[in-house]
Amino acid sequence: MHEFDLISTFFAGYDEDALLGIGDDAAVLEVATGRLAVAVDTLVAGVHFPMDAPADAIGHRALAVNLSDLAAMGATPRWMTLALTLPSVDTHWLSEFSAALRTLAKTHGVSLVGGDTTRGPLTITVQLMGEAQDDMLTRAGAQPEDSVYVSGTLGDSAGGLQCWEQADSSSQAHTLVQRFLYPQPHVALGQSLLGRASAAIDVSDGLLADLTHIAVASGVDATIHSDTLPLSAPLLQTFGREGATQLALTGGDDYVLCFTSPDSRLADSLQGVTRIGSLSSGAGSVSVDGALLAQKGYRHFE
Ligand code: ADP
Ligand code: MG
Repeated sequence: MHEFDLISTFFAGYDEDALLGIGDDAAVLEVATGRLAVAVDTLVAGVHFPMDAPADAIGHRALAVNLSDLAAMGATPRWMTLALTLPSVDTHWLSEFSAALRTLAKTHGVSLVGGDTTRGPLTITVQLMGEAQDDMLTRAGAQPEDSVYVSGTLGDSAGGLQCWEQADSSSQAHTLVQRFLYPQPHVALGQSLLGRASAAIDVSDGLLADLTHIAVASGVDATIHSDTLPLSAPLLQTFGREGATQLALTGGDDYVLCFTSPDSRLADSLQGVTRIGSLSSGAGSVSVDGALLAQKGYRHFE
């Protein structure tokens, strides 16, 4: 299959939200708010997903990780580009990959406005653009005395990856594996945090690593109470309280939001949100139950 046939078969037809979409030398977009939020993430086979991950999970993930970044800004996703490097043209793989990408894009009102297609080791890069507001969320802005919150439950995805690797076929494991393969970024919640959260980040590298980014960027210390961490029933059943807590603190790929707010009762008015700790004046340290922890998260280069 020729490169241009491949593009028109699998990736064309949802670029109508662009002034100029697929087919020219560049896409041209019109931004209503005057602020463009731009995020890009690359998925490398064997690094960001297992070599044997299903094609639809890879297509879903390529956009989901970027949606999660825009969610953490409170931005509204609008347009993406797709740089696709394929070892060969496998039309079955491509149809599953592209269908999952398209489905998630449509769910969030995202148009695919351009890209690039090349041959090489399987690598997928999605760049996502969206409209940012004047009071957009950033990692800086958290204040001493603010409360710390997370959305959803923590650790499920890292637990799911372990279950996947061990080919655990229990029903709890299945739920966790689904959380790992098809993360659901909290885009609507991010937008509802505008004017309510003082800082936000998406949890991609693990809670401790990501909360440390807020603490450093904002110049505060954070204290987490481990008995308040939101843990799902399948995670508790599969790994026990201690194992689940460890996964919740350090496991990656949850794509939930961690944020701070001066409102200590915010969890009462936002569904699926849990208060897990508080901030104090400091210089970027994060402690759990009083113990200082250095947590770096996953790093590609040491
Ligand atoms: P150019 O040579 O100008 O870079 P290409 O031949 O790479 O153009 O791409 C032709 C058109 O198809 C461009 O509009 C480009 O954005 C789009 N495109 C290429 N690959 C993809 C892809 N995987 N998904 C979506 N659009 C793509
Ligand atoms: Mg090109």
